[in-house]
Amino acid sequence: MPDLQPLLVGLHIVAPAVRTHGSDDLKRRRLRPLLRGEVTACQLFSEPDAGSDLASVRTRAVRDGDAWTVTGQKVWSSGAHHADLGEALVRTDPDAPKHKGLTLFLIDMRAPGVEVRPLRQMTGGASFNEVFLTGVRVPDADRIGPLNGGWKAAITSLSSERAALGARSTPYRPTWSNGSPSRPAAGAASHPRRGRASAAWTRRSRRRGWSTAATTWTRPPPRPSPSCW
Ligand SMILES: Cc1cc2nc3c(=O)[nH]c(=O)nc-3n(C[C@H](O)[C@H](O)[C@H](O)COP(=O)(O)OP(=O)(O)OC[C@H]3O[C@@H](n4cnc5c(N)ncnc54)[C@H](O)[C@@H]3O)c2cc1C
Repeated sequence: MPDLQPLLVGLHIVAPAVRTHGSDDLKRRRLRPLLRGEVTACQLFSEPDAGSDLASVRTRAVRDGDAWTVTGQKVWSSGAHHADLGEALVRTDPDAPKHKGLTLFLIDMRAPGVEVRPLRQMTGGASFNEVFLTGVRVPDADRIGPLNGGWKAAITSLSSERAALGARSTPYRPTWSNGSPSRPAAGAASHPRRGRASAAWTRRSRRRGWSTAATTWTRPPPRPSPSCW
């Protein structure tokens, strides 16, 4: 069974918002590939000046016929370097109160004008990115929810993310093939049953990943906590 990690943003964050707020056309085109793991997604919410205060996003979308032109910068975008789609919270009405001038879109991460720059971590790895959007054309058909209704749609994503993280972090104790909940002692590494126990643990963990995905998908989307409003 493949590693689920690259699929989690699509399954737990993007798909619930599309399901809850997207048009029938958007659901028909985007949900199945996300749920089947045929496309990967990233979350383009945070900006250099919009972190905890997410409603301060400045990335601008300007209407251009049946599409939008999006320009701005996102940051901390996990997995953007291998994502096919980005769920982007952008400002569509700069004159409205800040929570009311936002709209949520799906952006093709390979569209002209999208530049992903990995952020190198102390570990040597690079799982986060800066994402620069320069005149990126986004069809209006890829809007998630109503124009200037992006805050509500973003909260659906964030609530689903929180629920999925909670579900995945519930205590899970492996039981080794010798019946013990403890890992075999050092020196027992060559124990013939260790390899089997290890493989069983891995299989159970992966099944658990899928069942978390199924749980967040089959139940109604979680409600936001009052601090989100
Ligand atoms: C593992 C990880 C993965 C992430 N992946 C993504 C992703 O894929 N996509 C994405 O868009 N974002 C992602 N983020 C970003 C994250 O969701 C937050 O938006 C971001 O970490 C907060 O913004 P900031 O770093 O600019 O901190 P700031 O908002 O500047 O906050 C810095 C500190 O100040 C405190 N603070 C802020 N405002 C106040 C206030 N008014 N009063 C008191 N204290 C305050 C905060 O609590 C914090 O301790 C990720 C973050 C982490 C840790």
